[in-house]
Amino acid sequence: MPSVRTFKGGYRFVNFEGQPKDVLEEALIPQRVTIPLRQGFGGEGNCVVSPGEKVCAGQIIGSNDHGVSSPVHATINGVVEEVRRINYFKRDCLMVSIKGDGTSDYQKVQGATPHWEHLEPIELERILYLSGVTALDREGIPTQMRSSVILPEDACAIIVHGVGSEPYNISQNILLQGKNTLRLIEGIRILHKIMPNAKVYLALNSQRKKTLEELLKLSAQYDWLEAYALEPKYPQGYDEMLVPTLLKQKFPYGYSAANIGAVIVNLQAVLQAYEAVVEGKPLIERTIALCGPAFKEPVHIKARIGTALKDLVSLRIKEGMIPRFVLNGILTGPELKDLTLPIDKAYSQIIAIPENHRREFLSFLQFGPQSDSYSHTFLAKFYPTTKKTCETNKHGEERACISCNYCEEVCPVAIIPHLLSKYVQRNIIDETVMNLRIFNCIECGLCSYVCPSKIPLAKHIKDGQERLTIQGCDRNQCILPYFSNLKGIEEYRGAKKL
Ligand code: SF4
Ligand code: SF4
Repeated sequence: MPSVRTFKGGYRFVNFEGQPKDVLEEALIPQRVTIPLRQGFGGEGNCVVSPGEKVCAGQIIGSNDHGVSSPVHATINGVVEEVRRINYFKRDCLMVSIKGDGTSDYQKVQGATPHWEHLEPIELERILYLSGVTALDREGIPTQMRSSVILPEDACAIIVHGVGSEPYNISQNILLQGKNTLRLIEGIRILHKIMPNAKVYLALNSQRKKTLEELLKLSAQYDWLEAYALEPKYPQGYDEMLVPTLLKQKFPYGYSAANIGAVIVNLQAVLQAYEAVVEGKPLIERTIALCGPAFKEPVHIKARIGTALKDLVSLRIKEGMIPRFVLNGILTGPELKDLTLPIDKAYSQIIAIPENHRREFLSFLQFGPQSDSYSHTFLAKFYPTTKKTCETNKHGEERACISCNYCEEVCPVAIIPHLLSKYVQRNIIDETVMNLRIFNCIECGLCSYVCPSKIPLAKHIKDGQERLTIQGCDRNQCILPYFSNLKGIEEYRGAKKL
């Protein structure tokens, strides 16, 4: 067993109420889907269908061969009802609505074959691109078709991660059930064939001993593939933490791992790459974990992209509960306020936690065995097996900083959140905060979570970054001088509109 790798700072979230069971339900084929033409990594696709047109699942309905992007597909068989722009995660986005005919079959990606080993890398890249899988993960999967900010030959490392360090995670038992462990290795071999200069780092949760042992054995067959055990401490799953932990390299904060030649993909993305190349399956569905104490029964669900959120969650909420829905990460994910909006390629968890604005006297002292507290106060530590409630409500006003230093202890990038917050609140927005490395903040939200005074430190730091940028001092001046040979910076700025 390899030694367990980790980083300084961070926090272990353990034993939270509302973890999804190892159950995978198949959602019904929706009667109607609404498909955003910008989803996952990359720019918006141009719509290539019109209202009234018949489409089949797996047919490309949006693509843009001139910008960094990947095609988007119809996810059900039916007729295009409407093409319109709507506000989607604070951005104007073109949406295609399709009324379905109830059938579940789909059109396969041309050229896909179980004998993929005979294909040239460019053919594999074309299949991955046409399947839409290249839009997955934070910076996409590189191909010659401009699906990421770098080209495949520029990749020197591929990190495949299944660490699961968030309070709620998609279950590895679900992702790697049946023959999926073997499919994962085959998916990794496909990615390595298109990025032959890259060493592959398989980063696994050190607590999942059985999976770890199995994958260690399988990876030993390839000299370009190594498996590592990582402590599932938040935010280990962030690209900014994976790069220093595994590659022992600095991360260009505010930019992307791809800019230093590292391609980071999660287990689900690799499995979907396998399905695209071997089975010809386009990216038309996602496995999503429904997590959190507000669900009657937290489970995993496989649903077609474009399904309305309300169709997945509304009948699953506990009676009388008013939940707050959050996408992907309870500490940092956007709140899902409009349940008529659809799910897209980037969804992996929908978290439902009880909304609670009740004021509580001295709630920061965290009495009770169910409270998760960084300070380990009172009863909580005597009940290690009691399920904790994931609590992000404030229960009262923000209080003064008590200089406990917790925020500094947990910060994974070793900056001083309480100091930065104080400077920003006192309008000291100059080189003082730049010298305190304000632009190194990766917005993990951990400082705000552990703060007993409920000070929104991460928000203050983000405000400070924005105000510095308005004044003309941006992260380029603080970050880029420490790096030479960053790749795809212009493409990254273009795709992210920096
Ligand atoms: S300062 Fe930034 S990186 Fe550090 S804990 Fe807070 S949000 Fe995370
Ligand atoms: S955790 Fe909160 S109270 Fe403690 S030092 Fe940081 S800002 Fe101050």
